[in-house]
Amino acid sequence: MQRTMTRRQMLRFIGQGAAAAALAALHDPAEAIGDNGLARRLKVKQIKTYVLRTGHTVVEVVTDRGIRGWGECSPMVHGSVFARLIEHAIAPRVIGRNPFDVERIWRSVFFGRYKLGPMGVYLEAIAGVDIALWDIMGKALDLPCYMLLGGKLRDQVPLYASAMRMRRTPEQEVEFLRGWYERGFRAAKIHPYERWAFNQGRDDTLEVARAVREALPGMALMVDVNNAYTVDRALAVGRALEELGCVLFEEPIAAYDYDGYARLCDALEIPVGAGEQEYTVWQHKDLILRGRIDVIQPDVVKCGGLTELRKIGTLAIAFNRPIRCHNTQPTIGTAAHYHFWVSAPMCIVEQEYPADFHPLRDRYQLLTEPLPIKNGSLRMPDRAGIGVELNRKVLAELTV
Ligand SMILES: [Mg+2]
Repeated sequence: MQRTMTRRQMLRFIGQGAAAAALAALHDPAEAIGDNGLARRLKVKQIKTYVLRTGHTVVEVVTDRGIRGWGECSPMVHGSVFARLIEHAIAPRVIGRNPFDVERIWRSVFFGRYKLGPMGVYLEAIAGVDIALWDIMGKALDLPCYMLLGGKLRDQVPLYASAMRMRRTPEQEVEFLRGWYERGFRAAKIHPYERWAFNQGRDDTLEVARAVREALPGMALMVDVNNAYTVDRALAVGRALEELGCVLFEEPIAAYDYDGYARLCDALEIPVGAGEQEYTVWQHKDLILRGRIDVIQPDVVKCGGLTELRKIGTLAIAFNRPIRCHNTQPTIGTAAHYHFWVSAPMCIVEQEYPADFHPLRDRYQLLTEPLPIKNGSLRMPDRAGIGVELNRKVLAELTV
């Protein structure tokens, strides 16, 4: 006999179904929301640090459910230092925790080992682990990391070609940058002939800037002298760069001289940038309030990872400062930056991309696929997490 159901009976039936689902959710909320239950149960099982003979450091965080995340530390320090810090100072505070407790983990690692320093190598070690945790969060939810950072404000990111001089003459530098111009890059940054400080060295900065501006007028030009000048010398060079139409004067004086930066930023029209030697949101606050800096330049593989970078992004909104991230790694670092660049409101200008030969990109192909850069812009595919995978054979070959 076919059963028929009155409208009232049907409503009662649907109501019972909803009540049953609600009861199930009370018994096991994780199961009730389907795949997201995985995110709730994840625990960090192991942290592996790969010290590469190229001088670079890769971090892999492994969870108990098989999801793994990749991170990278700044290459400014030998990887063995990072390996020891991660093993002894960081891992004990991360293993066993849910990667989604990323703020709690960051604060435990930072404040729990505060005597290791609120900047420098310790923050760079934290960065490697933190980026991997964000990669895991994205993979666990099947979402690209920018969706965890507020979603996209832009689809692609214009890049500028940034190269150390490597003792190239002005003519050689023009030809070097012409190659990047022909690849579609419309902005570039030059550096000094060699490293020096307090005006004590060969300084052909203006000669190179003039040559590039004349030969490549369609290339926006930035100048980074890596802390080479005293304040008075920086004022004179900065005024000359204004005449040449340069768009950024980066780290003209010692990084710690916030009073000097304030004098420069008040006096010059050309935007002055710094931030690659500032780490936390607190240091960037001082750079803005005391140094009155025009453009801030944090780096995800230095400043403490995406957890700290997103706070610096909020600081930039509060103080109306454009962000041009410092970026030396065309590997995990650039991929991690991408998610910040597309989602952070103040990333409104070109972002740094390393133009010099880089072994992990140009010789060994550490990433299983090259980053998709076309006409000078990066647009990552919408993959879960950071969006890159590493060639494990290459990683094994390069690991010391
Ligand atoms: Mg720089």
